[in-house]
Amino acid sequence: MIPLTSELVAIGKTASDKADAIAQAVDLLTAAGKIDPRYGASMMGREAVANTFLGNGIAIPHGLPKDRDLILETAIAVVQLPAGVDWGPGDRARLVVAIAAKSDEHLQVLSNLTDVLGDPAEADRLATTTDPEVIVARLTGAEPPAAAPAAEDFAQGFDVVIPGAHGLHARPATALVEIAKGFEAEIRLRHGAKSANAKSLISLLNLGAAQGAALHVSAEGPDAEAALSALAAAFAAGLEDDEDAGAVASDAAAPGLTGAVAAPSDYDGRLLPGVSSSPGFAIAPVFRFARDEVTFAKDAKDPAAERSRLDAALKTAWQQLEELHDEVWKKSGPTRAAIFRAHQEFLEDPEMRSAAEAGIAEGRTAAFAWHAAYSARADMLAAMKDAVLAGRAIDLRDAGLRVLQELGEVKAAEAHLPSDPCILVAEDLTPSDTARLDPALVRGLCTAAGGPTSHTSIIARALDIPAVVGAGAAVLDLPGGTAALLDGAAGVLVANPSAADIAKAEAAITARAAERETEARERFKPALSPDGARVEVVANISDVAEAEAAVAAGAEGVGLLRTEFLFVNREAPPSEDEQVEIYAAMIAALNGLPIIIRTLDVGGDKEIPYLRMPVEENPFLGLRGIRFCLAHEDLFRTQLRAIFRAAEKGPVRIMFPMIAMVSELEAALRIAEAVRAEIGAAPVEMGIMIEIPSAVMMAPELARQVDFFSIGTNDLTQYALAMDRMHPVLAKQADGLHPAVLRLIDQTVRAADAAGIWVGACGGIAGDPFGARILSGLGVKELSVSIPSVAGVKAVLRRVPMAENQALAARALVCADAATVRKLG
Ligand code: PEP
Ligand code: MG
Repeated sequence: MIPLTSELVAIGKTASDKADAIAQAVDLLTAAGKIDPRYGASMMGREAVANTFLGNGIAIPHGLPKDRDLILETAIAVVQLPAGVDWGPGDRARLVVAIAAKSDEHLQVLSNLTDVLGDPAEADRLATTTDPEVIVARLTGAEPPAAAPAAEDFAQGFDVVIPGAHGLHARPATALVEIAKGFEAEIRLRHGAKSANAKSLISLLNLGAAQGAALHVSAEGPDAEAALSALAAAFAAGLEDDEDAGAVASDAAAPGLTGAVAAPSDYDGRLLPGVSSSPGFAIAPVFRFARDEVTFAKDAKDPAAERSRLDAALKTAWQQLEELHDEVWKKSGPTRAAIFRAHQEFLEDPEMRSAAEAGIAEGRTAAFAWHAAYSARADMLAAMKDAVLAGRAIDLRDAGLRVLQELGEVKAAEAHLPSDPCILVAEDLTPSDTARLDPALVRGLCTAAGGPTSHTSIIARALDIPAVVGAGAAVLDLPGGTAALLDGAAGVLVANPSAADIAKAEAAITARAAERETEARERFKPALSPDGARVEVVANISDVAEAEAAVAAGAEGVGLLRTEFLFVNREAPPSEDEQVEIYAAMIAALNGLPIIIRTLDVGGDKEIPYLRMPVEENPFLGLRGIRFCLAHEDLFRTQLRAIFRAAEKGPVRIMFPMIAMVSELEAALRIAEAVRAEIGAAPVEMGIMIEIPSAVMMAPELARQVDFFSIGTNDLTQYALAMDRMHPVLAKQADGLHPAVLRLIDQTVRAADAAGIWVGACGGIAGDPFGARILSGLGVKELSVSIPSVAGVKAVLRRVPMAENQALAARALVCADAATVRKLG
């Protein structure tokens, strides 16, 4: 907290213009020995790119981050201008709160200001008081805010307490917005004296509702009652309170938080302590991450043209986020990709959009108006008392900047991304920045800001990059190339480490890496248990590069090629020849190892615009997977022809997704056989995904017609538990190790055994070493997992006797819930 004293508050002043007002604040700060007077130019520099007017007569001039070294000690100064001064078109500032902050100690002051912002009477009192102590008391929080009139509630509503450990942060708020948007009714959430539009993510985050906060939810409109019961159900289900939950629903299991934890004081070098974000050690020179600079003009002549530029930029940015979402989804699964959905939600925020349009209507460029709209909201979020909520400011800026880059002039930073191994140091990293990092070069990450629940931390853990966050502004002063050591588990960056420091870390790295090295070294050894049971460990892939990577990672083939990824991000489906070429390239990369090619599985969460899929109330229960292909026979036949042609080049199996009924399988087999006969191709093994409970029930009949089953535990779980695998509130409970799912798997294996066919599994739990033990114990013979999980799954299956896995599976089958099953591990 910054000590604000009355000598830094100037009362009853006048100023000729903004520059004069800032100069007066700079004089106060300079006289108090807080800044080098050149920091004034930096404050004016910021005004040139962003108007710091907050609203209600309050402006918060502050310098540019690059000039932080001109700050001698963090401080704020206040210049009161009762008559006001122009701060921008239509904006008059009466209280100028000049901030010189080395890091984020000023946030509490900003937070106190946000209360004043919502209260014109209080803002007026501060702008006219003749006593500097009144301002000091208000901004330091010594005097509590005057009670504001309670926001109006609608007639129907309910009270609720925020569940979860992190309050109403981005994910639960996104869940609420998604639900609210499905209704016509106006919906309001009130927290004390603040109220928010439930369809605006930013507005919800600005409530600052921490864990345990009491809320009143009210609604008005034709479907108000239904909206309220949907929201009540979401609250009752707990919302999404765990930032890193649900990893098991994806292919990639979360890396364990293992590794020696050193006490930071164990090091001799200069310690820059922060917060542990992702465990592990890195020893490499510092690389200062720089972001591209975006510049833009302030005024424009044609508001209509600016509005359409904004429209176009929002659409492009939304599409980029869609692609990024798909890419991260492929790499790390739906949970980790979800942040990009929240970014899309920011872009659709109705209140932010109106603010930007209002700026355009006043003659500003789209870029200026958009920048002002998102920056003001991000500044407010950053000032929140709740750290998790404050951390969402970076997400809003990230999404905002993406649009701005489409609207302004982008000047590429000289050294944007590293070309040599390094510890990457940054003020903060946006999820978009982090998703682009190459883990081969970025050995460690250290940010001045951020927290362990930030999405940057989540992505760093997914990429397995050791990371420290919240290390403060001092890390930004380290020149590029400084020798450094990062201890992720201890949460410390050590600049210029001693030889002893390095030796210690190297020993820990060696110990930590030994296990992985053994796994990696033995990755080509089959998963043969000590008691002689063999399980095939193969990989899930979606492109040619992954086929190569799978072989290099020790996979014994491909158990699932998700062909839908060949159809995304293009204007039309790939032609037959194009598909043959891709499948043949994969077969060549596999060099004799088998590949299971799953026919197109679109629908549900996988939408492909040019296929003009019908808009459905329940797409997961609609024209998905095989149903879509049977309804679009041309597309299906083209794909099957391509697969049969490619099958001449190596061992290919065909698998149909989403089979619910025997008749669907028979129709698919009939078409496949006709296609095969037409082109005179040799028969191949045919199989189906078992991912719908009805298929489990009909497994004896289905088994008679195919050569193998592969259990899609992701979908089987969602359909068995009736929990949408993408549901922001329920997805984390949709655990594939739930005994209900395990009993379905057990039943499937028995039916397959009776029919003499083999069973594989290709959902997320197959790649979790504990899940792999249970599945193999249940009799699953092939596990298809994400590429990074191959070596670990093989290792665990080689280490543990199959008899033990069978005993474990038997105990799991009689548990009452997933949590009890997980405790068996
Ligand atoms: C599954 O449902 O478990 C599966 C592997 O298929 P997908 O995740 O592609 O739906
Ligand atoms: Mg599936």
